[in-house]
Amino acid sequence: MVDLKSQYHKIKEEVDRAIIDVIEQTAFIQGPQVKQFSEALQNHLGVKHVIPCANGTDALQIAMMALDLKPGDEVITTSYTYVATCEVIALLQLTPVFIEVKADTFTMDPACLEAAITSKTKAIVPVHLYGQCADMEEILDIAKKHNLYVIEDTAQAIGAEYTFSDGRKEQAGCMGHIGTTSFFPSKNLGCYGDGGAIFTNDDELAEKLRMVANHGQKVKYHHDIVGVNSRLDTIQAAILLCKLPHLNAYSDARRSVAAGYDKAFANHPNLQIPARNPKSTHVFHQYTLTCINADRDALQKHLQEKGVPTMIYYPLPVHKQKGYQNAQFEPGSLELSEHLCKHVISLPIHTEMTDDVMNYIIESVRSFF
Ligand SMILES: *Cc1c(COP(=O)(O)O)cnc(C)c1O
Repeated sequence: MVDLKSQYHKIKEEVDRAIIDVIEQTAFIQGPQVKQFSEALQNHLGVKHVIPCANGTDALQIAMMALDLKPGDEVITTSYTYVATCEVIALLQLTPVFIEVKADTFTMDPACLEAAITSKTKAIVPVHLYGQCADMEEILDIAKKHNLYVIEDTAQAIGAEYTFSDGRKEQAGCMGHIGTTSFFPSKNLGCYGDGGAIFTNDDELAEKLRMVANHGQKVKYHHDIVGVNSRLDTIQAAILLCKLPHLNAYSDARRSVAAGYDKAFANHPNLQIPARNPKSTHVFHQYTLTCINADRDALQKHLQEKGVPTMIYYPLPVHKQKGYQNAQFEPGSLELSEHLCKHVISLPIHTEMTDDVMNYIIESVRSFF
């Protein structure tokens, strides 16, 4: 699905040097590269605070802990997402309230939002799924009206840009109270292990987020609140410092693959190409087709026989997962999310794809029909 090796070889000298420098320094925990990377990312995104942490799941958990969400508080999110979004809601004994995504863009449907709000609702977690922003203007307006927090799960969309109706532009993850992201190797800005970060423009929240991520302490050995241990490794920060300057070019490379797939499948009677949110740029963490009157699983098998890897993101929505069949996760009726899980298929997309490989994938898809 991705070609991390070719990508590494293009920046190998710089990355190898950066890794060796950390080892030579022996500042493995909270070395200077962690702060340097956080500041570089702050500047890149135009956000006031970047709080590094161990992974994207921790980032979500730390965000919810810093907002003082308590057992029984309701958090509205989508079930059509990676499990991490809902996992931390479960861990903190919050109550998830799932709403539908939009059939064309796969992101939270703001039209379903107000009906889901109750007196217990505390936060909304839109997921910028597959690489483009959810309808943030609508979501933020509703959140403001009902006095709710917004946490953007930006694990798949770092670098996507959203334009508000007044022309103001903001980066994914920097519009709500808190944004969270992941540097898992296959994400758009991936390190060579686990990593994550939290974004906010709020000084007070930033301080709280840093405390939660650092054992609840501001002063060493003085634990004012219960926290967690979640740090970005110095070696990973050093690698990310090498990769961040390439992020825009990486997004462009992914967009160019998407444009090729679009051109090939735009008029296909059995395939729906991914729709673009007109207010957001798309960084194509995934290129996801929807099958129409076609056997998705047979298509996947056909492609596998041709040597083309594909993935189903996601085969089951979270509310249908075995581990989530309990009173905390009251199964609602989310017909569209369930339908999408049966009909979507994601094609390989990454920064190193050659025209030859892309054309082979396109021909392999066509030959199924
Ligand atoms: C990858 C991902 C996460 C979790 O990130 P990790 O670093 O793997 O913990 C959370 N949410 C979404 C939508 C993701 O795609």
